[in-house]
Amino acid sequence: MDESSADITPEHPQWAEWRWQMQNRIHSVEALEEWIEPTAGEREAIEKTSDVFRWNVTPYYAQLMDAHDASCPIRRQVVPTMDELGDDIVAELDPLDETGHSPVKNLIHNYEDRVAFCVTAECAIYCRYCLRKRMVGDANFFMRTDEHQAALDYIAEHDEIRDVLLTGGDPLTFNEDNLEWLLSRLRAIDHVELIRFGSRMPVKLPYRITDELCELLERYHPIWVNTHFNHPKELTDEAAAAIDRLKQAGVPVGNQTVLLRGINDDPETMKALNEGLVRMRVRPYYLYQAQVIGGTQHLRVPIEVGMHIMRRLRGRTSGFAIPTYVLDTPHGKVPLNRSYVKGRAGDYVLMETYDGTLWAEPNPVPDGHPLPVQLPSVSLPDEVDTIPLDEGANVNRPEVSGARAAG
Ligand code: SF4
Repeated sequence: MDESSADITPEHPQWAEWRWQMQNRIHSVEALEEWIEPTAGEREAIEKTSDVFRWNVTPYYAQLMDAHDASCPIRRQVVPTMDELGDDIVAELDPLDETGHSPVKNLIHNYEDRVAFCVTAECAIYCRYCLRKRMVGDANFFMRTDEHQAALDYIAEHDEIRDVLLTGGDPLTFNEDNLEWLLSRLRAIDHVELIRFGSRMPVKLPYRITDELCELLERYHPIWVNTHFNHPKELTDEAAAAIDRLKQAGVPVGNQTVLLRGINDDPETMKALNEGLVRMRVRPYYLYQAQVIGGTQHLRVPIEVGMHIMRRLRGRTSGFAIPTYVLDTPHGKVPLNRSYVKGRAGDYVLMETYDGTLWAEPNPVPDGHPLPVQLPSVSLPDEVDTIPLDEGANVNRPEVSGARAAG
């Protein structure tokens, strides 16, 4: 049963129970006031963004927020701000064309041998920069049993699929019965070698990594987990204990960080994060350039900033504490280094994808933002793909004749 806001404290006897945390998530300004002093802008944004993207925060994660500083890197990830409603260069909510790559509902088949299976639209917390804003938190994307079965049937019918990523939303919002239902069916498909989970639970609600869950995962090996820490403040004792439980169950754990302005966009923060992850025996895997999603412009950085951070890590920390900096595109992930990045063409960065497609990523430099790395100045070639921008977008837009049609 939901408790009154004032009773939701770390002293509560059920504090470390994940279901209690889920039931008592913060989803009103009044409840948030028990943890922080929301600014006028945050208060207004909580109300005005409610129709745009769902909002709530677990009490566990709320305790990590700075009560008095709105620039706190934890707070900026999860508390709405009015920036989300400002002009952006895209209204686009599906920049990777995941819908176009989905043969059945919520199953993305982009690479030949792998699928991303979005088994739920629910998360413990709704990250303000979420890549899947188009579906996460949206009741239309919740999956019925017959829809899960349709996706499993597709996987069974395609023997080229050897690697299945369970994602969402967050698949670990499922209880053990539902997870067992899914895992047992996947394991019954001979050609599925690897099952991966993409989950932010170790970060937002580490109590979800229970002994019962670990025992379940252990029965369906090989299982891998990729989680998503963005800032050293998230590397708590509770998170470390959750990772340790996964490791004890033989689950390798990797981490995907999203590069976010004002949160982790400097070499010192990124070094501290990755070294902390390695101490927890988590392998830094990807550093993602934030996708061009409407309402996230205030959190994106110029690609040159990410390249600079990578330069500052190499030679200054252990090699396995250095992730690969990538941008996801409809043509697959592109490592953002000079082998793939050709240069800057005004507000675009030109790069080549693994299959030889030229991709122009809209990446305008915010006014006054320093560029610590100078990319060669290039022209966009005639045949180049990109994301359709909003008609009114204030972007220096060269002709891009091969671009996907808007809409
Ligand atoms: S955990 Fe992942 S899917 Fe869920 S809101 Fe955050 S970024 Fe989106």
